[in-house]
Amino acid sequence: MPDSTPLTIVNVGFRSTNYWVISAGPARMIVDLGYPGTLGIMHANLKRMGVPLKELRYALATHYHIDHAGLAQELKHLGVPLLVLETQVEWIPLMKRWTKPQDNYTDISLDGNVNISFAESRARLKQIGLAGEILPTPGHSDDSVSLLLDDGSVFTGDLTPLIYADGGYAEAVKASWRLLREHGAKLVYPGHGPIYPMDPDA
Ligand SMILES: [Zn+2]
Repeated sequence: MPDSTPLTIVNVGFRSTNYWVISAGPARMIVDLGYPGTLGIMHANLKRMGVPLKELRYALATHYHIDHAGLAQELKHLGVPLLVLETQVEWIPLMKRWTKPQDNYTDISLDGNVNISFAESRARLKQIGLAGEILPTPGHSDDSVSLLLDDGSVFTGDLTPLIYADGGYAEAVKASWRLLREHGAKLVYPGHGPIYPMDPDA
């Protein structure tokens, strides 16, 4: 993949949650993975946005809450590898606590995942033509990570916006934003709501 391949970013979200597909030509990854029981909607949204499912080379959940990783196992079954960061592994089995039988949640197996360290993330992304890295950004949850592309686009999941950082997690939230700022983050693609520029106070 030449470095000049332009990036495109589209939202295949459902209700209030954004699911981002980042593409460098036909190599694509999806960040945040649908709500339990909504595989049909995910299929329809991918199709509507012109994203063939078989071109999704990785699926990344910013954290293991049901609205961000609800379809992870079903996507694995369809051939989309689940990229799991070192701080996330232990949280995966806990997700089912937040689901009800009627959610039709398919539990995520620890088998068959692509487990990597943060240090390895740049090389992994490069394999699919994406220049960037994945950074630990705890605060909303201990397992929260952000995908930061070298153009400054950053996918932060539910990392609390700085102006709302309060209470016991405020220091962790502030530290996460600082880390993103130091690594060149400019434009925030959150898990909910519109895209916004990085807070200059970060
Ligand atoms: Zn969450």
